[in-house]
Amino acid sequence: MEKTQLLDEFKKEVEKCRRCPLYKTRTKVVFGTGSAGAKLMVISEAPGYWEDQKGEPFVGAAGKVLDELLESVGIKREDVYICNILKCRPSNNRDPQPEEIEACVPYLEKQIEIIRPEVICSLGNFATDFIFKKYNLRDKLEGISKIHGKVFEPQVAAEDVQSSLFEQKRRGIKEVKIIPFYHPAVATYNPNMKEVLKEDFKVLKNL
Ligand code: URA
Repeated sequence: MEKTQLLDEFKKEVEKCRRCPLYKTRTKVVFGTGSAGAKLMVISEAPGYWEDQKGEPFVGAAGKVLDELLESVGIKREDVYICNILKCRPSNNRDPQPEEIEACVPYLEKQIEIIRPEVICSLGNFATDFIFKKYNLRDKLEGISKIHGKVFEPQVAAEDVQSSLFEQKRRGIKEVKIIPFYHPAVATYNPNMKEVLKEDFKVLKNL
């Protein structure tokens, strides 16, 4: 099956999810949007009010900022794949809880496995924390104010060192670049941060 079809099938499954209590308060599941063949995958935290209403990521105020940032480096939104750690909105936009993350991340893992991006941008602390741990970059993990805009290459985990290069590639290890950014929402309450984000996004032009 090709990637688009795989993602479409998977989306239908995720839309029925009841793994954590957030299903009770959601309007729509926010699975993710964009190209299944994307080289660049943007991973953020969780849907907000408008995302929950529309079932799409980044369609509110932070979405406008993200659109502007992508445009500033000549990247079309439809060429990127955008999704979140949580597929359902936590009420009042509170932080994701550890048990919600645990219940939901297998979906993100599978999205990454299907898309196999060359570059993953993590937006904000929650997404960065998850991605750095997944790619064995724990020792490089610091607050987003320290590591924003820097390019990281995954390290092969101890248990994977023995696996063949083919196996490492199949699992997406070693092939991907990880770049953490501030969450675009920061620019909605601190306009100076938009310039910082724009400066950071320039790194995407050289990849
Ligand atoms: N903030 C996020 O983290 N994700 C969205 O989809 C929208 C806003």
